[in-house]
Parts: sequence; C-alpha cells; structure tokens
Amino acid sequence: MPYTVLVVDDNASNRELITTLLDHRGDRSIEADNGEEALRQARSHGPDLIICDILMPSMDGYEFVRQLRADPLIAHTEVIFYSAHYRERQARRLAQACGVSRVLVKPCEPEEILRAIEAALAHAQPTRSVTVAEGFERAHMRLMTDKLIEKVSDLEHEIVERKASEDKVKRLNRVYAVLSGINNLIVRVHDRDELFREACRIAVEAGDFELAWIGIADSHAVRDDVVTWSGKGDGPTENLRLVAGLALAEEGEAGRDAPLQAVPIIYNDVIDSPNLAFARDDLLARNCRSIACFPLVLNGHPHAVFALCAAEPGVFDEAEVRLLGELAGDISFALDHIEKEHKLHYLAYYDALTGLANDTLLRDRLERFLEAARRDKCGLALLLLDIEQFKTLNDVLGRHGGDLLLNALARRLEGNPAGAGAVARIGSDRFAVIVPEIRTDAEVAHILDGYLHVWLDQPISVAGASVRVSARVGISLFPNDGSDAQGLVANAEAALKKAKATGDRYLFYAEQMTARVNDRLALESKLRQAIDNGEFVLYYQPKVDLASRRIEAVEALIRWISPELGLVAPVEFISLLEETGLIVRVGAWALRQAVQDQLFWHKQGVQEPRVAVNVSSVQLRQKKIIGMVRDALSASAAHDLPPAIDIELTESLIMEDVDASIEMLTSLCGLGVNIAIDDFGTGYSSLAYLAKLPVHALKIDRYFIESMINEPNGMMLVSTIISLAHAMRLKVIAEGVETEEHAKILRLLRCDEMQGYLISQPVTREAMLDLLQRQAGAPTVRH
Ligand code: C2E
Ligand code: MG
Ligand code: MG
Repeated sequence: MPYTVLVVDDNASNRELITTLLDHRGDRSIEADNGEEALRQARSHGPDLIICDILMPSMDGYEFVRQLRADPLIAHTEVIFYSAHYRERQARRLAQACGVSRVLVKPCEPEEILRAIEAALAHAQPTRSVTVAEGFERAHMRLMTDKLIEKVSDLEHEIVERKASEDKVKRLNRVYAVLSGINNLIVRVHDRDELFREACRIAVEAGDFELAWIGIADSHAVRDDVVTWSGKGDGPTENLRLVAGLALAEEGEAGRDAPLQAVPIIYNDVIDSPNLAFARDDLLARNCRSIACFPLVLNGHPHAVFALCAAEPGVFDEAEVRLLGELAGDISFALDHIEKEHKLHYLAYYDALTGLANDTLLRDRLERFLEAARRDKCGLALLLLDIEQFKTLNDVLGRHGGDLLLNALARRLEGNPAGAGAVARIGSDRFAVIVPEIRTDAEVAHILDGYLHVWLDQPISVAGASVRVSARVGISLFPNDGSDAQGLVANAEAALKKAKATGDRYLFYAEQMTARVNDRLALESKLRQAIDNGEFVLYYQPKVDLASRRIEAVEALIRWISPELGLVAPVEFISLLEETGLIVRVGAWALRQAVQDQLFWHKQGVQEPRVAVNVSSVQLRQKKIIGMVRDALSASAAHDLPPAIDIELTESLIMEDVDASIEMLTSLCGLGVNIAIDDFGTGYSSLAYLAKLPVHALKIDRYFIESMINEPNGMMLVSTIISLAHAMRLKVIAEGVETEEHAKILRLLRCDEMQGYLISQPVTREAMLDLLQRQAGAPTVRH
C-alpha cells in the first residue's frame, strides 16, 4: 500500500527532487511551501511521513514540528529534516528534541534520501505519541539567538568585505579604464615613443597611479637615457630605474648571457620588501607604497619595462595583476605592430642593403627638390649611375663582397652636395643622385667631373681587395629635359641607355649639353696646364687724356697663348677660371706680372705708366687680395719705384656687400692703389651709393659710348653720368672709343680719359714700350 508523504520546502526544485523519488517508490506525495500550509495539509491528509526543510520564511522547520507535535491528531507523524543549514550538533540535538530523528543534509545523494525515507516509514507508528522534549523551546530560542549573532557578525563581515570589494571594483574599474584607454591608443598611434608617453599618461590620469614609467631594456637593465614617464614631480630616479630593471634581471643559472626573461615583479608594500631597500626612500618620497613592473615583450624578448606605482599598499592583487598583465600584453602587441609597420614602411621606401632611398622615395624626393628649384629659380641635375660589369664583380668578389662594394659606393655617393637625402639605389647595380641648385652649365660640368672622380676613380677596398668600379652615367637637367620627376627619370634613363650603348662615360639627355660639358671640361684641363706652363701674358691698352691724347695709364688685359688654340681672349676663359676658383692663382699672377712689366718699361728708360689690373669678384671675396697687392708692390718697392698699380672692379661686386667693400677698398687705397669702377652702367648701382665708396674713377661701358650716336637719349645719359661723377670728384674714363666722332663728343661732354681701338688695341708690353717711347720722344735705356 502506498504511503502518503508531505514534502515541505520553500524551494520548488528541492520539493521536486523528493516527490520524484517518492513517485519512483510508488508513494503519494503532497507538497507545501511553508509551515502554515504544511500544518493544514498534515491535518487534512494525515501523511505517513513529512520531509521538511528547516530554513523557511515565516515559520522554520522547528516551529512547524513543534506545532505539529502540539496537535494530537497529527503529533505522531514521522518527520525528516532536509536542510542545508543546520549542520551543527546543536541543531541535530534540537531536531531530536522535537522528535525528528533523521536530518538529511543538502546536497544529498538520492540513495541516501531513499534510505532515510524507508527507515522513517518503517519506524512510523501511528499510535506512537511523539512529544516535543522539555527545554526544546529554550534550546530553539538559543539556536535562533546564536544564529542571529552569527548572522550579525556574518553581516558585519560581509559589509567590510563588500566595502573592500567595492574599493576593489573601483580600482579594477580604473584599471579597466586604463586598459580601454590604451587599447584606443594602440589603434591610432604609429610611433613607439608616443605609445609609451601616452600609456604612462593614461595610467596616471585614468588609473590613478602615482607614477608610471617605461624604460627601454638594455641587456639586463633599463637604459637611463630612454625613459618615458608620467606623474607628479620629477621623473624616476636612478634607483627607480633599477627597480624596473629587476623585471629583467632574471639571470638564473645561465648568468648574464642567458636570454632575458619576461617576469613581472610585484611589491605590494615597499616598506617590508627587503629587495627594495635600496629604493625605498625614493619610492616613499614619491608617495609610492606598492609597485609593479611588467616587461613589454617584442620578438620574444623584453624590449622595455612598464612600471606602475600606487599610493596605497596591497594594490596589486591577483585580479589587478592579471588585468595589468593583459595591458602589458596589449602594449607589447602594439610595439610589435609599430615595428612591423616601420619595417613595412622602410621596405616600401628604402633599399634594405644600403639603407639608401629606393626608386619610389627617389621620385618623391625629386619632386621636393624640384619644388625648391622652381622657387629658387635654379636648375637641377639627375644623375643615374650604372655600374659596369657588376655581375662579373659579384662573381669575383662573391655575393657578400658584392654587397660590401655596393655599400661602399653608396656611402661615397652620399658625399654629394645635397647629402644622403639626394641619393637612391634604384636597381641592383644602379644608383641615382640628385644635384640641386645648379645655376650654370659650367657648374654641371664641374659637379659631374668632380664627383665622378671622387665616386669612381678612387679604388674601393672590399674585403682586402682593391676594386676599381667603372660606371656609365645618364643625366637629365631641370628645366630643359623635363619639368617633373617622371620626365627627368625617364630622360636620365634614356641618356644612360645611350651611354651604355656608345661606351661614353656619361651622356646628357640633350646631346648638345654633352658636347658643351665635354668642351668645357677639356678647356678646364687645358687651362690648368696653361697655368702650370705659364701660357698667360698681359696685353696693355692705353688710357689717354681726351684733350692731349697723352697716355695717362694703361689697363692690363690678360691673354692666353695656347699652343693648340693660339691667342685666346679673356671672354673665353675668365668665367671658367672664376667658377673653378683658378682665377685666384691667375689674378695673383696678373698683379705680379703687371709690376714686372712696369719694371721692364722702367728699365727701358720710359716713364712707366700706372697699370690698372682687373680684379674678379671671386678674388675680392677672398680677403687675400690685399696681401696679393702688397706682395706684387713689394717688387717695385725693391727698385725704389712708388706703387703704381690700380685696380678695376665691376660695380655689382661692390654692391653685394657695401660695408665689407668699403673696408676692403679703404685698405687697398692705403697701399696707394686707385680704384676704378669698370663697365659702369651695366650693373645696378646708383651714383649716390658710389659716393660712399673710396673710389677714384668711373669707366663708362662701351655700350653707352656707342649709344651716344645710335640712340636718342644716349648722349644725354653719358652727359649726366659724367657731370654727376665730376660732382663726386670722380675721374671719368670712356671705354671702347672707336671713332673720332666718339672722341669729339666725349671731349665736349668733358670726359677725362678714353680708351679704345681709336687709340690702340690691347698690345704686348713690347709694343706698349714702343708707344711709350714714341710719346716720350728719344728713348733712353737705363740699366
Ligand atoms: P674690361 O676690363 O672692360 O676690358 C675692356 C675690354 O674691351 C677688353 O676686352 C678690351 O680689349 C676691349 N676693348 C677695348 N677697346 C675696345 C674698342 O674700342 N672696341 C671693342 N669692341 N672692344 C674694346 P678683353 O681684353 O677681351 O677683356 C675682356 C674682359 O675680360 C675685361 O673687360 C675684363 O673684365 C676681363 N679681364 C681681362 N683681363 C683680366 C684679368 O687679368 N683679370 C680679370 N679678372 N679679368 C680680366
Ligand atoms: Mg677693365
Ligand atoms: Mg670694361
């Protein structure tokens, strides 16, 4: 016959477990979810067994059993307590006191429950009277009070814990804020230093750390020069750096050569961490009680250490360390990403072997150089160099040797005027060099000659061998050969291709340019020889008084007597001498020669005229001119002759730097030298300016003399120049006077002297001697 069992539990699933077991046994179960209901059910059904929870709202299990036992009709009912809570012996005793012999403790295996049910039912005797033992009331009361006390202390404990965990949550939230701040940062930052700087800032601002710093790992320590930090006061001291270094110093048994390990170090109280004794004062001075250092790993090795200091002790608990570890991992990830990005960027724009720009970057840079050239209104050359027989060189030297050679050549090319930024390696054996700020063709010739000499004519030593590299060069010029990078590169390539085919060492894109540059370079080398071989001579042209036509002075005009070219006029070579700087040597020679020729005339018994020597701007810029003039004059002084050298300068030169000119000219005047402004009118100087200068004479350019006849205002202009010059007490000399008509007008305009073919062409010193002798009447030779 089935038993009727009442299951009392406020928890439905607990009831369900029991009722399922009862069903399985074939018993009938009735349920109640509180004590009141259970009493009602018991009264109406008179169950054979009651399985009852102890802890229930409003009426607990004991109270229920007490009331059950108080009702004679149901007092005898067998009861099993099934509860998780009242494990204590006291509770069991209380259960016994109210006639509950079995207490099942949750959780409980079904077999155990079934065994208890069986035993209880076997025990059930409807006639048995079960009463609640004496003293139950008190014991129950005590249990309740104890429970209450326990509960209160539990509550107190819970409140403290909750408070601690709230603080913890707050802290962890801050760390989360740091984590998310840094993760945002990782997405937008592409630079390591910025990443570090920002990570420290975020840690201090969002994470409320006292101090955060990141130092770069260097072997087993943190480098002192690369530390980024954020926090109040100064940056981390040497000692704090050493603390961060502890995260790297896992030397282990393998010693200092062992690979570095990534080990976070955590000190939750600086005060009682003996390892930190050396840095304790520094840390406490900065209000740091706990410190954690996390290695930032790059390519499997610690690259840096991220150190965080907090004001309170014990901040770095497990949860926080886990989060911060995650954070360090994220920063490491960003580092890796940045490095890869840099590498990609590097590979996209640089040649990995030589470190020079590659083809892409060359074009970019070329555009920038072109912008500057357009702005400064000057030219630019693009040189492409192709090494000849590089394959053979590679075979002979080996691949490594070939690489060394390319690197050595790259370093040489970097010595170009615009520096390393103007060089690129654009093919396995092809280089490009941008030569900016080109103003004349001659400059191109020079640069080309000079640099090819430096780059290619000196042997390169590679792994003990001395290698001579020969190359073909293709050149394009801006603006003539192209106005943009693409055009210039294409044309330089075309020129290079042609040079390779013809075997020329270099070719310009424009053929006539190659010819011009070749001529120029050939002329230059001849000029150098001319200097060495003494192929220059001075010719003299008289300056005569307009009224008397007496020779007042002579002008020295240089000539080159070339064995190949014959007599060469200065217009052919002066500018080249100036560009190469050779003019300094030649100019010094001219000064000396002029004095020598004066001595020659003197010895021939004529009154030696003053000699005007032309001085170039290049000579004047070098402060040596005064010394040169003095040296030259010392030769005449040795013969007791007074200084009788004058110099002619062009106005533009003087105007370049008026103050410096005044100083220099004053010194020259001090040596007894008169100064004439040559080619007056062709430059931009104003007469008013000239008034400031220690100048003695003006030479009116040939063009104005011609214009007196050809142009309507010509005469007026010359007349004005003459009268203004006179007003400033300057002597006026007319250049290039070819006809009597010129001479006549000039005389009328009160010009002082004239010079020109009308009187004489420039002539040798011997011919000049003739002119001087004729003027002086009978010659008297002195010895
Ligand atoms: P410059 O100093 O103005 O010299 C005058 C030039 O005019 C000379 O040319 C002279 O031969 C030429 N000339 C003179 N009279 C006449 C004439 O009636 N008609 C024409 N058509 N030309 C005339 P040159 O000798 O060829 O010299 C040219 C320039 O070379 C000179 O101009 C001077 O600036 C420069 N030069 C000559 N010798 C030297 C030198 O030793 N050192 C430097 N730095 N420059 C020199
Ligand atoms: Mg002159
Ligand atoms: Mg002149």
